[in-house]
Amino acid sequence: MLVVGTGDAFSTKLFGSCCVVEGSKGQVLVDCPDSIHRALQCASDQSGWKLSIPSLQDLIVTHLHGDHCNGLESIGFARWLLHRNHGTPLPRLHCWKPVANRLWERLAPAMDQGGKAVLKDYFEVHLLDPDREAHIAGISVRCRPTDHSVPTIALRFQHAGKVLAWSSDTPFDPDLIHWLEVGATLIVHETSPPPTHTPIEPLNALPESIRSRMRLIHMPDGFDPSTTTIPRLMQGEVITI
Ligand SMILES: [Zn+2]
Repeated sequence: MLVVGTGDAFSTKLFGSCCVVEGSKGQVLVDCPDSIHRALQCASDQSGWKLSIPSLQDLIVTHLHGDHCNGLESIGFARWLLHRNHGTPLPRLHCWKPVANRLWERLAPAMDQGGKAVLKDYFEVHLLDPDREAHIAGISVRCRPTDHSVPTIALRFQHAGKVLAWSSDTPFDPDLIHWLEVGATLIVHETSPPPTHTPIEPLNALPESIRSRMRLIHMPDGFDPSTTTIPRLMQGEVITI
């Protein structure tokens, strides 16, 4: 996994929380915040990975808050042009039904080209189903709704016996923690002010057996790392699961 952004929606220093997960058959961008082109370039420069918009074939969007999906417009246009001019396949966009149902409502005012374009001119939408395992880039992917303020999914990526768990945006939820942590190699958990996000205190109170596998993301600019022993993810960091 390459960590691309670790900030919250209001950060003046960090990109919005997102990462690229690499499987045996390709790479998956998990969430698509503002300035996604620059975020991917910075992560490439820091890590040595060669990320590029033309080569990203799979995107997952966990929910429709702007700090997780505002980059879809620029990726969509970039790939639409490549598709039109060079025949490059459109990217697959994986999301669950409540997001898919309103995705075009979110994008159309900027992308409908006077009523001539529709969502499938930009993205090949694939539905994630909480009751089913999906297979993306050679990785088994499961999702589960979280109790965020808009429909949102947490994720588990399983590949070669290793599991990366991704809380996405969520209030503190012991049931979600359990779903994330069972068998997980690495648990990426958000922390931001409640009530729609998870403050650091309940994460600090989790058993060591869970905290030792946990890393933090989606931190406000003023987050004080001395308030916890759970390490933060760093932009540009590569973690082999
Ligand atoms: Zn959110």
